[in-house]
This record gives sequence, C-alpha cells and structure tokens, in this order.
Amino acid sequence: VEAVSGVEAGAPLAERPEGTWRTARHWDERWQRMSRAELDEVHLRRIRRLIAYAYDRVPFYRRLYDAAGVHPDDIRTLRDFEERVPFVDKPDVMADQEASASGFGLESVPRERRAWFHRTSGTTGVPLNEVFTSYDRQVAAYEGWAYGWWDMGLRPGDSMYFAFNFGTFIGFWSALFSAERMGLLVIPGGGLDTRGRLRQILELRPDAVIGTPTYLLHMGDCARAEGIDLAEAGVRLLSTAGEIGANVPSFRRALREAWGGPRICDIYGISEPIFAACECAAVDDGAANGLHVVERWIHSYVVDPESGLPVADESQVGEHIVTSFRVGQPLIKYRTHDLVRLQRAPDHGCGWRFAFLDGGVLARLDGMVTIRGVNIYTTAVQSIIGAVSGAAPHYELHITRDGGQDAMEVRVEALPGETDHDGLRERLRQELRDRLMVSMAVDVRAPGSLPRYELKSKRIFDHRKEGGA
Ligand SMILES: [Zn+2]
Repeated sequence: VEAVSGVEAGAPLAERPEGTWRTARHWDERWQRMSRAELDEVHLRRIRRLIAYAYDRVPFYRRLYDAAGVHPDDIRTLRDFEERVPFVDKPDVMADQEASASGFGLESVPRERRAWFHRTSGTTGVPLNEVFTSYDRQVAAYEGWAYGWWDMGLRPGDSMYFAFNFGTFIGFWSALFSAERMGLLVIPGGGLDTRGRLRQILELRPDAVIGTPTYLLHMGDCARAEGIDLAEAGVRLLSTAGEIGANVPSFRRALREAWGGPRICDIYGISEPIFAACECAAVDDGAANGLHVVERWIHSYVVDPESGLPVADESQVGEHIVTSFRVGQPLIKYRTHDLVRLQRAPDHGCGWRFAFLDGGVLARLDGMVTIRGVNIYTTAVQSIIGAVSGAAPHYELHITRDGGQDAMEVRVEALPGETDHDGLRERLRQELRDRLMVSMAVDVRAPGSLPRYELKSKRIFDHRKEGGA
C-alpha cells in the first residue's frame, strides 16, 4: 500500500538523457526490451501491491476476496493470481456505481484526489463513470499511444491533427495525453465539419492525423468529392482507434490510398481499465498482424472462458483478461469479453518484447450468432466483407430472430467505381457461404448511402432483444 501511495503522489517520469532518445530505436528502450522473466517479475510485484491496496481501500474488493476466501497475502506467484483471485466484470462495476454515493464504482480515493471525469460510450444503456487521479492521467493513460507512433517514425516536434470533437469518452483524450508527453504539436480539429477539417489539414500540413478508421476514410471520400488531392497535405502517419477496421487489409489499403500513402498505426483500447495495445512498424510493413500490449502499464493474459483458467498453450484462443495499474478505480482481472490469441515472446523483427495479440481482437464473446446451428462471429463476417472486391468498408450487420432461429442480413455499400451491384451481391453471398457454411441475405447499397459516424461506427444491429419471436 505504501509503495502504491508513492507512485500515486505523481513521481515524475524519468527524463531521458538529451540527445540519446531522439535517435533511440524504441520509444522506451528499457521497457520494450525487457526480458519476459523480468516483465513477469515486475507484473507480480505490482499486482500484489495493487491487490493489497484495493483490499484496503475499496469495499467491493474486500467483499469479493473475503467471499472467495482469498487474502492479499495469499498471492505469492502469478499462478496464485491466475487461479485464486476472482474476476471482475462490467456489471460488477455498474452495480457498485449505482450503490455508491459518489457516482463512481470501485473508487479508491477521496474526493479531492479526483482530477478527470470520463465515461464510457454507454452502448448498453447506463454509462459507466470513470474518475482519474492525476497519477492515472499522467502515467497510466499518458503514453500508451507513443510506443506505436515512435516506431512508425513520429518524433518530438512533429504535429498531430485531432480529427474529432472531444467529449467525455476517454479514448482520444489518452491520445492527447500521449501526444503531449511525446512532445508533439497538438492541433485540435474540434468544432468543424469535415470540409473545414480538410481545409485546415491542407493549410497546416500536420505530420499525423488521428481519428477513427471510418471517419478518416470518410474524409478521403469528401476530399475526392471536392476535387482535393489529400496526398498534397503530406501526412506521414494516420493514427486510428475505436473500432475494428484498420487491421482489415482492404480497409487499410483504402485508407492509405485516400491519404497519399502514409503509415498507419492502429491501436486497440478498452476504456474502463485504460488498456492499450498498439501496432509496431513491422505490422504496418506486413511482417505480422496484431498489436503489442503496452505492458509498461498493463498486465494481460488469456483464459478459457468456460473454466476461467489460463489457456493450455499460446496457440489457443481465449478470453482476454486485463489488470491495469490505474489506481483511482482499480480493475483487477477485468473480463474484456474479447477473444484473442496472445504471444508472450513475439519475434517478428520489431525488437519489442511486449506480448503480442496475434491477429488483434479475433471476436467478441457476445458477438456470436447461431445461424442454423452454426456459430458465427460478427468479426468473421466483417473480415470477409473487407476481402471482397468492389465492397466498400461501410456496412451494417442486422441480426434478427425468426421462428426461434437467428438470421443475419448484411448491408454493404458498393465502392464508387463498382456499378455491377448484382454481381457484387452474388460474390459476397458466395464468399460468406463458402467461408462460414451458412447463407445470409446480402443487400448492396449505393456509395454514401449508409450513415457515417465520427466516433464509434454502429455496424452491428442486434434486433433480437427488441421483443421479436
Ligand atoms: Zn512488433
């Protein structure tokens, strides 16, 4: 507890010696090159401290651990942690939030330590409130993005254009914190429409632009419609986050073409624990597909969702469980409901030692639909759409229940040059049937006809909960 309080006080980050860090291969040589054994040792030390801290400060954890018959002193190894400590799920945090006078679930700090308010996008109804201490902001959420940006060539003094309006959602705030930490010139593009932003980008020529993949692609469409050649802006890096997309090859290609060939750095974040995983340059070069967990601030492992125990070997897909070292609202063994495959000692040429989510998020546990007895993950449908020529990366999946059976309809826009909509519909229908072993309805729409979103694109519409059959 003592040790956590020390960090909590906001000890300054170690300064990098002048002259060496600009030429360093990695943003954080010490951490990115740390051996697996040493990383595990650091994780264990921090986890033990965090568990003791949470047990001491957060009534929820005391109840949870007492009920499970586990005391902080019992956790001596990572195996103890994996096998004995209970999981925490989002509904637990929501219930604690509803019962709390402060409006924050799992809160561990007194009122005067609260520094930033955020909330999750609330796709499931009531939003989850998040409180950040200055430690949470300065350290845990501070540089998650910088690892990938640095690897792709951004350096202090470069500029980054933020192509969205800031709200309570944490996602891009953490990018802003990272940009500031890295010494980038931050250009806020809020309060403008897409044309206004395009004009600014052409005028200010930022080195990097950040936004959701769908919105950045939409900016490309707008530029084309206005007769603007975005390549003239000279943007060297697109930083994307917030939705599955940038890791789908056709989507990535379309983005790169629309912006005149920049590098693309995708990040996968989970807002509640401030989880971050980012792509390295080797991924953008096509040498690997996936993202590195920013282990500096996150512990991450994979369990069999049925047994709750670690998967037997690394080739196995399982549920991603994360623990972050953010102290304002500790999340210990947080269930993400994401299905992943985790390489603990990746080796694809980038030199990072941080664990690698091979293939990114493969599916969501709740993103599964059973059509005529076949289990289909919506992410599988998404990647098939991304691989069919003539299909634009703008689509919607509508899930319905008909006579006790799940059904899925795919609505997809044709690319502007694709005039044979019947042919595209057939190609898609066949590809989906061949790859997934079930037929689904496909509806091809005109370019630009599906709605565009600035923050999180709504692609999956589950109508089964609307009181259908
Ligand atoms: Zn790598």
